[in-house]
Amino acid sequence: MKTKIQKPRSLVITAGPTREHLDPVRFLSNPSTGKMGFAIAEVAAKRGYAVTLVAGPVQLATPKGVNRVDVTSAREMLAAVKDVLPADIFISTAAVADWRPKHRAAKKLKKHEMSATLELVRNPDILKSVTCDFKVGFAAETGDPSAEAARKCRAKKLKFIVANDVTEQGCGFGTATNRVTILRADGSVRPLPLLTKRAVAAKILDEIDGRRK
Ligand code: C5P
Repeated sequence: MKTKIQKPRSLVITAGPTREHLDPVRFLSNPSTGKMGFAIAEVAAKRGYAVTLVAGPVQLATPKGVNRVDVTSAREMLAAVKDVLPADIFISTAAVADWRPKHRAAKKLKKHEMSATLELVRNPDILKSVTCDFKVGFAAETGDPSAEAARKCRAKKLKFIVANDVTEQGCGFGTATNRVTILRADGSVRPLPLLTKRAVAAKILDEIDGRRK
């Protein structure tokens, strides 16, 4: 009798901030620590997914069984994601810098070489620009995230978006816990209680695996 070998489902996930340098020692960035994305990568690997984690500059150990690619800027992150796709699922938890300095100096700029204004250009929207049958996005908002999240879900062709209010205590950047709402493209809204980021990761994967609890 032949045994059918099932290929594991593949999952690509971005995590952490990006850094947009204006010279080798100065950059624009944000306080993302990568904890949420690393938690999802860890739980997904435990569930048998073949996981590739594209990480910005963070201070976290690679979860067991996860293939990790380190990047610095948004453009590097986009190139790395394109390199590792296709995959069955793409989850974008990274806090990608929306703008980068127009010019990057090869050497540290002296004070007198800098001006009071910094010219910026838009970075690519990684989540919007990549193609994958099952895309999941995150939305960090300051205020009620629901309305904006639903719009983003449609604009970026996402199966669902995980929204949170980063001003709420115990939520957002650097915390061990998170309170999120899962918003599907069909308009359904599923608020979750305050949970550890690992427990939130499990709920998100349940949503993907179609076994909501
Ligand atoms: O539009 P906004 O930046 O709030 O969308 C958030 C979602 O889009 C997150 O999933 C984030 O990882 C992703 N994103 C991205 N590339 C950008 C900006 C956001 O992949 N340049």
